[in-house]
Amino acid sequence: MRKDRLAYFKKRLLEKQHQLVEEVGRTAVYGKDQEDDSIKDLGDQANTAYTREFFFELGNGDRRLLREVVSALQKLEEGSFGSCERCGEAIAEKRLDALPFARYCIDCQRLVEEEQRTAAG
Ligand SMILES: [Zn+2]
Repeated sequence: MRKDRLAYFKKRLLEKQHQLVEEVGRTAVYGKDQEDDSIKDLGDQANTAYTREFFFELGNGDRRLLREVVSALQKLEEGSFGSCERCGEAIAEKRLDALPFARYCIDCQRLVEEEQRTAAG
């Protein structure tokens, strides 16, 4: 991917991250008592007390989204941004335009959602 495109996505991701961080202030009061399994699979990305606490302060949807934004920013740093985490193919830029934090190409996204539905049921 071209450098100016990467810079563009980075800017958008940072803006999104900033926006979500601001959400913390509004949802902190409500977040404390909620059980949420997603906190357990944050893995290495959230391997500090600060980050764990930080994610915990967010509502479920925001927390998940922020995790994806942070992950996308890490991929930008690592140079793997824009690649599907499942099949390794490039994610369509149109898709990244809509969802800069997309982890999977559209085909894998469908499969992953299918698996999640199966696992949940
Ligand atoms: Zn894929």
